Amino acid sequence: MEEAYLRQFVRMTESWNDVVLGDYAWRAALPHFAQSWLRNFITATLLLLIPSTIWCFYIYHLKPHVYFPNGRMPTKRVMLKQVWVSMKALPLFTLLPAVAEYVIEKGCTKTFVRVEEVGWPMHILYTTLYLFIAEFGLYWTHRLMHDVRPLYKCFHATHHEFNKEDTISPFAGYAFDPIDGIVQAAPQALALFVVPMHFVTHELLFVCKGVLAANAHDCIHGKVWPVMGGGYHKIHHTKSRYNYGGYTILMDWLFGTLYEPEQEEEKVI
Ligand SMILES: [Zn+2]
Ligand SMILES: [Zn+2]
Repeated sequence: MEEAYLRQFVRMTESWNDVVLGDYAWRAALPHFAQSWLRNFITATLLLLIPSTIWCFYIYHLKPHVYFPNGRMPTKRVMLKQVWVSMKALPLFTLLPAVAEYVIEKGCTKTFVRVEEVGWPMHILYTTLYLFIAEFGLYWTHRLMHDVRPLYKCFHATHHEFNKEDTISPFAGYAFDPIDGIVQAAPQALALFVVPMHFVTHELLFVCKGVLAANAHDCIHGKVWPVMGGGYHKIHHTKSRYNYGGYTILMDWLFGTLYEPEQEEEKVI
């Protein structure tokens, strides 16, 4: 790729850094990569804290009788522990999106700047392929983390410390070992080397995954097909061998590990 074309990626990340980090003298002293990492870290921290706090206040404080008539809700202590585990993971985990931006800016990927360069039909096709690779990769790396015992013990057990309905909360979305988080999110970044992908769409989907991760841990069955919502992911935590997917339940359906929340309800009745 030409230098002038690659410069457009750098200008975009610089403008996002301006918005999140502000215009301070100390910032100019940092290399561009460090600034981008810091912006990713702050964005992920805000994503962890703001939507989850609002959602927890709504479901646990304002509407507990609607969403948790059985009273099985996490305590503040559990939620604080999840924030603590997340805050330990995020500095290392956010190196992944920062490195992805770095390789994009260096022209090592097939990422493009404007949708018009490929047209909307191809953009939709490429985004679908990108999501398929991300989802397929996340499903199998996650499943491997469960199947290979040493991997589970060393990395994935941190996330499964919260395995009962009253120990799962939206704050658990990032409560993982950073290596575990990187391994499961890496296919989404690696897809950029294979599929031509619109840069802003890639960034938005990474942000979207952060919000969905919180949503997947609220234990509420939202019934929004095919999203991997709280009803499905709660079963992953309580039963361990089902519902490994990330954004959706499609891979679980494809590979025979889907467990519907309705099956659970029938058993209870
Ligand atoms: Zn798991
Ligand atoms: Zn989880």
